[in-house]
Amino acid sequence: MMTEHNRTDETPDLEAVRAKYREERDRRLLKEDRDANLDLSGEFGRYLDDPYTEWQPREAVSDDVDVVVIGAGWAGLLTAAKLRNAGFRRIRIIEKAGDVAGVWYWNRYPGAMCDVQSYIYLPLLEEVGYMPERKYSYAEEIFAYAQKFARHFDLYDLALFQTGVTGLTWDEDSARWIVETDRSDVVTAPYVVICNGSFANPKLPAIPGIETFAGKMFHTSRWDYDYTGGAAHEFLDKLGDTRVGVIGTGATSVQIVPPLGEAAKHLYVFQRTPSTIGVRGNALTDHEKMNALPPGWQKEWRDNFTRIISSQRETVDHVDDGWTQLYRKTMSNPAFDDVPPEKLAEARELADLERMEEIRHRIDEVVKDPRTAEALKPYYRYMCKRPCFHDEYLETFNRDNVTLVDSQGLGIDRITETGVVVGGTEYEVDCLVFATGFDQETLYTDRVGFDVVGRDGVRLSEKWRGGISTLHGMLSRGFPNLVIAPVNNAQSSASVNFVHHIEENADHTAYLLSTAVERGIRAFDVSSEAEAEWVRTIQEGARLSSAFLEECTPSRWNNEGRLDERSLSNANYAGAPTAFFALLQEWRDNDDLKGLEILDPIQATA
Ligand code: NAP
Repeated sequence: MMTEHNRTDETPDLEAVRAKYREERDRRLLKEDRDANLDLSGEFGRYLDDPYTEWQPREAVSDDVDVVVIGAGWAGLLTAAKLRNAGFRRIRIIEKAGDVAGVWYWNRYPGAMCDVQSYIYLPLLEEVGYMPERKYSYAEEIFAYAQKFARHFDLYDLALFQTGVTGLTWDEDSARWIVETDRSDVVTAPYVVICNGSFANPKLPAIPGIETFAGKMFHTSRWDYDYTGGAAHEFLDKLGDTRVGVIGTGATSVQIVPPLGEAAKHLYVFQRTPSTIGVRGNALTDHEKMNALPPGWQKEWRDNFTRIISSQRETVDHVDDGWTQLYRKTMSNPAFDDVPPEKLAEARELADLERMEEIRHRIDEVVKDPRTAEALKPYYRYMCKRPCFHDEYLETFNRDNVTLVDSQGLGIDRITETGVVVGGTEYEVDCLVFATGFDQETLYTDRVGFDVVGRDGVRLSEKWRGGISTLHGMLSRGFPNLVIAPVNNAQSSASVNFVHHIEENADHTAYLLSTAVERGIRAFDVSSEAEAEWVRTIQEGARLSSAFLEECTPSRWNNEGRLDERSLSNANYAGAPTAFFALLQEWRDNDDLKGLEILDPIQATA
């Protein structure tokens, strides 16, 4: 069929590999509705209920502040902290959850941890005065650190928790945004920053019959420990008599499968597309070594990581993990120096194949049943899907009480009252756990849960219907004094270390708003030329990478295999993260607010 792992003395047959990858991709594209979501606004809204914090009644708030920050995940926390440092005092944070931390508030499922090394993922460690316990932090530690961060920057007093924004309207006369909430609050402010996050809305797939299932059912971001027993790192002691089904095999599933396999009477893992499972290699922090690092070490480590994943060659690799090793192997490999330019793409493809063969070989080494091992093997290029890392996931399939149900890319036929049907066979389960990810497809305003009404009544839902339109992924014409932290990094850079990207945006936001205040600018908007030019830059860049993405198996990185005009606009900045951060820095250094229109200076009245 395709290249043998040990075929080192021959050049692999790339055509055969491409054909295999294409065949796998095409099978997954057969089902047009493969990505249909259940509408969670009606009766299924109960699957969004917060299982972690009791409802706290409070009086409605009527407020006028300097800035409203919507969301208290890392984007909201970093933005509020940077605004504080820039001198803003009257800030309101509005957050749906019962506490800070965003995805790390919601995702408390067993085994949850972050795949980006803690020393570069957790922001501002040196300022806050904290050293992570492990190389890769578990979710509890990240949640606790977010709380510590919020206390450190005095952000708790600013926050309205368990509160959803329902309306955001620009008032021309007062040059203020009017923010309304589902608690009847009305908060006005000249500036608003929306930090909604990319993984805010759980996705339940619209699989036929899902509403008929009579057992227990929940999404991984709403884990029901009352039902499963145990806790994030404790044995799930109530599942001994329970047949559990997990739908999905992405980054979340890879983490919950080992603890569920240990605890359930029987575990069925329903797979549509296997993930790549790299080595995790977690370890306790060597405090002596880490505490001896010179001041400024975290920025140096973080930037070193970002430079490497921006394909730059570095003399040292501080993080040295699966991500940096990949880039060192496929993008900045010194072995490519002598490769003629016309052969470079092929050389990278061969390096990619080598990586994928290592991944597939590891499965053969760990998984004892050859049919299960074969079904777990991913056939696509490494960066077609979000890579995963784990040291117990594959091993779990050696347990007698664990069954991989592979649908060969076709997904689930239907759900019945008692189980899940795949390829005509019903698998009876008592509990269904949806590790099916987050809504990334619907209109931005549907995902944030409110529309934004800007100048002359223009609605963001209408403006962005055919694709988003911004300057730098953050500002959109018609919506003055509003910063939208990029969701899915659309029209912004895509960095593996999300929080680095978030911090750069927060720095940019703090500069923008404080400059506006210092210069007496009552309202600013993006010029139509600057916005059009940025959208053109994004689309042209996206066209260059579309050849690679078109060949990929469907995922959120290629709009589930539907690369259309809208996805071109919603694409990431095609340059490296370092190039994007440098571009923002240069824009700030020029200090001329290029591309912005000053709507109403207040110097005359000042
Ligand atoms: P995900 O990556 O979107 O994976 C969803 C899984 O559900 C995929 O296996 C998908 O199959 C499957 N699926 C979706 N709809 C389906 C349907 N109708 N029928 C059958 N299967 C279906 O979601 P996730 O695992 O929750 O991860 C989301 C993101 O969160 C990640 O990309 C990552 O950025 C982040 N995350 C990070 C960590 C970490 O750092 N360790 C952990 C968890 C999550 P297909 O692949 O065939 O589409």
